[in-house]
Amino acid sequence: MNVRIRGTVRIDTEACKGCELCIEACKPEVLEMTSTSTNTRGYRYPELLPGCTGCRACADVCPDFCFQVYRFDEPRTWSPEEGLR
Ligand code: SF4
Ligand code: SF4
Repeated sequence: MNVRIRGTVRIDTEACKGCELCIEACKPEVLEMTSTSTNTRGYRYPELLPGCTGCRACADVCPDFCFQVYRFDEPRTWSPEEGLR
């Protein structure tokens, strides 16, 4: 399984309040809330799965400015065997 990746995000998990708006906004469905881990304030927070497009929808919707989005100059490929290439 190869996944095309056009960008990535840095998430300020401590600023997250667990509202899940970013999960719904992410069209490629590559954001997933933690199931057991919480930040120090007790909120679950999103984690990034392979396949980010760098579209910025998560950053635009997050009320707490948790996302920094980076778009790659050239698309990259991720696979479970080789990681990010
Ligand atoms: S930049 Fe777009 S694709 Fe990447 S995590 Fe945010 S909403 Fe999802
Ligand atoms: S939109 Fe922001 S505050 Fe809400 S769950 Fe996502 S990262 Fe957390």
